[in-house]
Amino acid sequence: MGKITAEGNVEAINYEGFQLTRLDTVIGAARSNSLWPLPFATSCCGIEYMASMAPNYDIARFGMERMSFSPRQADLLIVAGTISKKLAPVLRQVYEQMSEPKWVLSVGACASSGGIFDTYSVLQGIDRVIPVDVYVPGCPPRPEQIIDGIMNIQALVKHESLRRRYSPEYKDLLDNYNIE
Ligand code: SF4
Repeated sequence: MGKITAEGNVEAINYEGFQLTRLDTVIGAARSNSLWPLPFATSCCGIEYMASMAPNYDIARFGMERMSFSPRQADLLIVAGTISKKLAPVLRQVYEQMSEPKWVLSVGACASSGGIFDTYSVLQGIDRVIPVDVYVPGCPPRPEQIIDGIMNIQALVKHESLRRRYSPEYKDLLDNYNIE
């Protein structure tokens, strides 16, 4: 038998062959264990990301290895590497081509803040053009850190309200991004 929380939510009611829970709990669990990442890798951090897929680190253990090179068939955008201002509109277009719901992982200092390239030609963080859900620090981050970042995305997906993605605030946020 499950319990009813102080807020009145039913956590779970279990009998033999019967379970009662919330729809977004089931959807969150299914989504978090079947992420289809699209790697947008441009430089050294991309190499570390490739290492995370090799047998030594084996991200397949966590259900996150099904790479997708079409934005239409991906729900996790992994940006790893330096993004020039010239490339920023392409990144933005790839993001827009992905269907909702979708999440973004920023891997390394360059993707997150421009890193060591504090210069006129480099985007000082991808969150100037697309929303980011999780940042992975490092120059470059080790494969374990990248896996940890994806696991944080999985936790977010699992517990995120289905409503957040469609809220007016979220749409407003998207409409007001700019490269400057
Ligand atoms: Fe290369 Fe460091 Fe930038 Fe990653 S953060 S792309 S390792 S310079």
